[in-house]
Amino acid sequence: MICDFCSSHPPAWLYPADTFLDQYNSVSQGDWLACDECHGLIEAGDRAGLANRVLLTDVVRSGLVDKKLARRYARDLHDRFFRSRRGEAHSLK
Ligand SMILES: [Zn+2]
Repeated sequence: MICDFCSSHPPAWLYPADTFLDQYNSVSQGDWLACDECHGLIEAGDRAGLANRVLLTDVVRSGLVDKKLARRYARDLHDRFFRSRRGEAHSLK
């Protein structure tokens, strides 16, 4: 399992969430997982910092996806996640 926000660290937290669609109509199925770093940004309300975590993903690091586009997509995706979120995070440890 990997963090749903940065795709680069093992998850330590589970955020209950409803299923929703991203801007390309891809399905986000239910709950989201977060690593400790992303969890810290979520709890601090640091949405810009959270969107920057997308720069850690393989598709961005390899240059396959443009950094600016990736960050914009992440902001929109996270907006949708926060609207679909249901309650507090649960620790997986
Ligand atoms: Zn993460």
